[in-house]
Amino acid sequence: MIDSHLHLQDPVLFDRLDKVLYEAREAGVDRMVVNGTTPDDWPLVSDLSQSIPEVSAFYGLHPWYVNEYPDGWQERLRYMLTKNPLAGVGEIGLDKWIPNRDWVRQQEAFLTQLGLAHELQRPATIHCLKAWGKLLECLDNSCFDGAFLLHSYSGPADLVNEFVERGSYFSISGYFFRQDKMAKLKVFELVPEDRLLLETDAPDMMPPKALIRKSIMRSESGMPANHPANLVGVYEAYSEWAGISLEETKTLMIQNFSAWHSR
Ligand SMILES: [Zn+2]
Repeated sequence: MIDSHLHLQDPVLFDRLDKVLYEAREAGVDRMVVNGTTPDDWPLVSDLSQSIPEVSAFYGLHPWYVNEYPDGWQERLRYMLTKNPLAGVGEIGLDKWIPNRDWVRQQEAFLTQLGLAHELQRPATIHCLKAWGKLLECLDNSCFDGAFLLHSYSGPADLVNEFVERGSYFSISGYFFRQDKMAKLKVFELVPEDRLLLETDAPDMMPPKALIRKSIMRSESGMPANHPANLVGVYEAYSEWAGISLEETKTLMIQNFSAWHSR
């Protein structure tokens, strides 16, 4: 099974990495797409991808952190990507939901990173919240024409086709199987089957109880954190929702992952 989006470098997972990895493998997870979010965690993502065969690395400056990094990160990102020809560009994107993040800087950072993905011919992973129109505009203003993943897509139903036409894949996280998120899940009925992927976004986006196989207590907050082994729950819930067998889901996700990741 393939987890198309998570953050294994997050201290909650990284501090107990051996155990987390053991449990993920036991559960049947055989590919994990680990997304870097700032220049500070890129080296860790790189180490993970070199030491763990299941890990695929993505490097990007996340829109939440654009204020914290003065210019200079762009060259660092180019270096990280050049060093690993298999790495993708992510997690990048636009976010109007989070307060106090420089909106102009977000767009500049996003366009720069799309440009780099185009130049180096890499797939991209995009985070977008409440900025869907602007996302379309940026995609149209960029020369990037590769495959990208809209991770945990929560955009409007009527934009699904627009994104499909521009090369988008869409991932469902376990979180969308919560009773109060059913409207978000329904949007995925419009996504072509060959453009779907599944993810945990661990340690974030805690799924509903029925999907949880493992969780970890966050020491500071005492709140449970999501675990990569919960991917099994996501695969099972998706299979049931889509009316296909677990084996069919596994085959579909392998095909979709290689189509997205090899472009
Ligand atoms: Zn993420």
